Amino acid sequence: MKIDIVTIFPEFFRGPLDHGIIRRAQETGLATIEVHDLRAFAHDRHKTVDDRPFGGGEGMVLKPEPIFECIEELKVAPREGRSEFRESVVLLSAQGKRFDQSVANELAALERIVLICGRYEGVDERVGRYLADRELSIGDYVLSGGELGAAVILDCVTRLIPGAVGNQASTQQESFTTFSLQPGNGPSSTCASGGLLDYPHYTRPADFRGMGVPEVLASGNHEEIRRWRRRTALEKTLRNRPDLLDEAALSDEDKKLLAQITGKNL
Ligand code: SAM
Repeated sequence: MKIDIVTIFPEFFRGPLDHGIIRRAQETGLATIEVHDLRAFAHDRHKTVDDRPFGGGEGMVLKPEPIFECIEELKVAPREGRSEFRESVVLLSAQGKRFDQSVANELAALERIVLICGRYEGVDERVGRYLADRELSIGDYVLSGGELGAAVILDCVTRLIPGAVGNQASTQQESFTTFSLQPGNGPSSTCASGGLLDYPHYTRPADFRGMGVPEVLASGNHEEIRRWRRRTALEKTLRNRPDLLDEAALSDEDKKLLAQITGKNL
């Protein structure tokens, strides 16, 4: 996969690109990631990329010309039909559609994504309307720039590229993941979240400062462990993110477990 990032702060990405899974994905050739300095596409000697907003008001707005010229130089497919080339140009924006695990999966299936980072009061609207094919927000809050958002998307998407994570099954068994595994093949197949939060994890020591580990996890009884994990995933989802239960793929067993947890029949 090819990932291009367009920013006025290219140095910002030194940390995110140089560690862990993203670094390994680049080293092994699974991902080619390039950071492009938007100021290189400015034409005046001050490298100006922003200007005052039409209509007046606070702050400055990123100009369209450098962004269009940068994307043109990257030779991205034209906006119409871009999806056929399995490419996407993403504008980071607080006004965008919310980025979540299903959008991450969608992006990870492409061959190329370009992430445009806004700054100041934002980006000239023509970039979102005529150049990018989607606007994405990483959450309902306002950041000072799109770089953190781009780093979040970069991380989520890169770890979904087949081969990027040592044990690929682990990316199919996490919080929010709707991919569903058949139960009954031992503990490793118990945790496809079906859109729930992940179940609690424990490791050694079994006794840490008097805090123990649930006995069932040391029982060796795979079916018991599976049920415990499913039950605790449901409990945690109910406690922290009850909204996820509306969309989750709940089995009859899940519904019974939820009824036990809540004391209500569902
Ligand atoms: N005036 C804009 C608004 O109210 O929606 C906020 C602009 S913000 C200060 C500057 C840039 O940060 C945006 O152009 C965008 O690229 C980025 N940004 C801010 N919040 C974001 C979010 N929640 N998700 C993704 N990008 C965000």
